[in-house]
Amino acid sequence: MKKTNEILNVILYCRVSSDEQAEGCSLDEQERQLRSFCARNGYNIVDVYYEDYSAKYYDMNRPEMKKIYDYCRKHRAKVNKILFLRWDRYSRNVEFAFAYKRKFYDELGVELNTIESPIDFKGTEWPTMMAIYCGVAHTEDVKISRRTKDGIHGTLLKGRWPNKAPRGYKNVNNGDRDKYVAIDEPKAKLVRYAFEEVAKGTKTPTLVWREVQKKGLKVSESSFFEMLRNHFYCGEVYVPEYLDEPAQYVKGIHEPLVTKETFMKVQNRLNSVNPRNRSKEKQMRAKVVKLPHEDYYFYPFLLCPVCGSKICASHSKGRSQTYAYYHCNHCKKYRVPAQQMNDDILNYIRQIRPCKAVLDLYEEVLNDIRTEKFKGINKEKNRIQEDVKKVEVRLQRLQDRFLDGEISSEDYKDIRQRYNDEIYALKSQLEIMKTPNSGVVEPQMAYAMSFINNIERCLSMVDMSVRMDVLGSIFNGKMVFENGKCRTAQFNPIIPILIGREAFFNNSGVPVNTETPLLYPEPGSNRHRCYPTGV
Ligand SMILES: [Zn+2]
Repeated sequence: MKKTNEILNVILYCRVSSDEQAEGCSLDEQERQLRSFCARNGYNIVDVYYEDYSAKYYDMNRPEMKKIYDYCRKHRAKVNKILFLRWDRYSRNVEFAFAYKRKFYDELGVELNTIESPIDFKGTEWPTMMAIYCGVAHTEDVKISRRTKDGIHGTLLKGRWPNKAPRGYKNVNNGDRDKYVAIDEPKAKLVRYAFEEVAKGTKTPTLVWREVQKKGLKVSESSFFEMLRNHFYCGEVYVPEYLDEPAQYVKGIHEPLVTKETFMKVQNRLNSVNPRNRSKEKQMRAKVVKLPHEDYYFYPFLLCPVCGSKICASHSKGRSQTYAYYHCNHCKKYRVPAQQMNDDILNYIRQIRPCKAVLDLYEEVLNDIRTEKFKGINKEKNRIQEDVKKVEVRLQRLQDRFLDGEISSEDYKDIRQRYNDEIYALKSQLEIMKTPNSGVVEPQMAYAMSFINNIERCLSMVDMSVRMDVLGSIFNGKMVFENGKCRTAQFNPIIPILIGREAFFNNSGVPVNTETPLLYPEPGSNRHRCYPTGV
């Protein structure tokens, strides 16, 4: 026991936290008041500790508090009290308050107390007093956190985005009353481009990712995939589940970068590769298309005429310049200058120009389909509306079953989310159908036709990735070329039809008639067996 005339040694503890408002509670102010209190009472200040740590957690990780504890343990009986301004400076967590009281007071004999409302730890009322003081601070903290969450939820429900704007947008801040999310050019242009390219479905998302990266959009591959899944870009705001309200999407007040239609196309594209299977998405990502060099871009479609293996291509140094060659690394008996080969192949491709009559017919059929489509669209709308009603009824029933205690709250939440997702998907479909001109075919048709008709010139004009896509859509398998003639080639089954010369092709689309201007092996001939087709 200390005698009353003995000088008390105290440690001052000041605490702030970035998640609390520090009204009149800055570290300086706390220290000033504590020092003046000690001066009035004649206490000896051993040390002052400043903590910047939230007091709402029940953890033992407060670095300064730990140092004080270590100091007190090493210097037993050298410290009598740890003083702070108010109880909320000590703890906003009742559990922590009692645990540390035990550690300091019961184990080490060091008293924890405030100067504003000190507790008498020698009396019997201290547990009630400490529970009240720290409990009030605790409650205050819970309230603040609830208010913040309420605020965020309310903001989201109004379609406002309170967080950092996603890529392609920026946060505009003109004071508290005028905060919003605006489109951020030129990044937005790249994001829009990415969505549109993926929606078209001609390139893999990974390829599109590489393109926008080259064009200056800084984004990792996984973030790119997340971006494509973010509803924000089609003008929606995601409101997560909160208290009893399920998660939902609401119409945002920001300007969308892409139409709902484009967005849904992108989702379908991602889903088609990824039917609830993330590993497949990974596979898709891993499948990076390495584009061939301009000088020998046909090599992925060629087989060696000597041994039937896949062909390689590379540059070789000549006396004055480098030349590109196609060659076989397998038998090493095949090597041709790439330039000449490219010309031969282009000559060949030029001959598969579709005949006019077939093209006209094709256009007519497409038009028919489109007219039918418009007739069917109302039917389809009705069907979807029926489906929405059905799911809504199910949802109602689910709620009844939950209220009757037939299903657990976890199951209820799961199923409810699934139903809500279903309803969301159906309603999105309806919305797209309402958009006029959503099924315009003409411009695409016109483009496709002019492309097919001028395929040779177009090939030389477009990107290598598109070139590969076009060639890939013409040839199903690989070609064997020799002496400027194509010996075998396996086409997309649509090509013979387009050319209007079905007679020259057999069932699997391999040209069979040697009377055509092109040289094809006859079925059953030795040559045919030697050079496998369609590998
Ligand atoms: Zn070979």
